[in-house]
Amino acid sequence: MDLWFTEYQTKDLSIGCRVIKTLYREKSQYQDVMIVETPQFDRMLLLDGVIQTTVKDEFVYHEMITHIGLNTLKDPRRVLVIGGGDGGTVREVLKHKSVEKVTLVEIDEKVIEAAKMFLPEISCGLSDPRAEIIVDDGIKHVRENKNTYDMIVVDSTDPVGPAVGLFGAEFYRDVYNALTDTGLFVAQTESPFFNRELIPRIFADVSSIFSKARLFTANVPTYPGGLWSFTMGTKKYDPLEVDTASIPELETRYYSPEIHRSCFILQPFIKELIK
Ligand code: SAM
Repeated sequence: MDLWFTEYQTKDLSIGCRVIKTLYREKSQYQDVMIVETPQFDRMLLLDGVIQTTVKDEFVYHEMITHIGLNTLKDPRRVLVIGGGDGGTVREVLKHKSVEKVTLVEIDEKVIEAAKMFLPEISCGLSDPRAEIIVDDGIKHVRENKNTYDMIVVDSTDPVGPAVGLFGAEFYRDVYNALTDTGLFVAQTESPFFNRELIPRIFADVSSIFSKARLFTANVPTYPGGLWSFTMGTKKYDPLEVDTASIPELETRYYSPEIHRSCFILQPFIKELIK
C-alpha cells in the first residue's frame, strides 16, 4: 500500500510526499515531532505535520541563514542559535574558525533527541566541544543575556505556538540588546509569495530598531513556494560592503562569494513588498 503524507502549505495549496516509513514519532509538550523516510527527500523532520528540514535540501537553508551573517562580521566569536534543534545551523556555524562558542537555545528537547537519533549528518555539530545546548525559550534567553553575542540566528518554525513571539518587535529589541555593539542577527522570515503581510511588517520593525535592515532570499524546494526569505538586522557591518574576494574558503554547496552578493538582488515584487 502506498503511504503518502500531505502538508497544507496554505489553505488552498499542499505538498505530498511518498513515505517509506516513520522512523520516530513523539508528542512533546509543544508539538507532534516526527521523522519519516521518503524516496524523494530521504529523511525529513516534521513538526505538527509541517516540513522543517530534509536530508536532501537542508544545506540551502542552513548555509544561507549562517554564512551571510558570519562573513559580514569581523572575527565573530560568540553565536546564539534560537530554535534550530535539528542542529544544521550549529554545524554550519562551527565551520568558522573564529567562533569560540555557539549556544543553541531550543524549546523542545524531543526535537534534539530525534535529530541526534535519525539525522546524524545534520545534528553532528551538537556534540562539538564548542557547542552549548540549552533547552529553554529563546525569547526569555535573549532578555536575560545583554551585550553577549556577535551573531544571533533565529532558526524558528513558522509563527505558530511558542514561535509567535520570535516574530515580534519586542523580541527584536531584546535581540538588539543581547548583541555586542557590532553584532547582527538573521532570522528566517517565511515566503515572499504567501506571507505578504508578515515580511513588510518585520522589515519595518527591524529597520526601526537596527542601523540597517537587509532582506535576502534562497530556494528551498520543500518550503511553501520554494522561494524563502531571510531578514538581517545589523548594528555596524553591511553584508553588501563585504569584500567577497576575502571570504574564506568554506565547504558549501549553495553559499558562495557570488551568492553572498546575488542573494540581495531582489525581484521587483519583493522590492515592492519592503518598500
Ligand atoms: N528551518 C525550519 C523552518 O524554517 O521551518 C526550522 C527548523 S527548527 C527545527 C525550528 C525549531 O524552533 C523547532 O524545533 C521549535 O521547537 C523551535 N522553537 C519554536 N519556538 C521556540 C522558542 N520560543 N524558543 C526556542 N525554540 C523555539
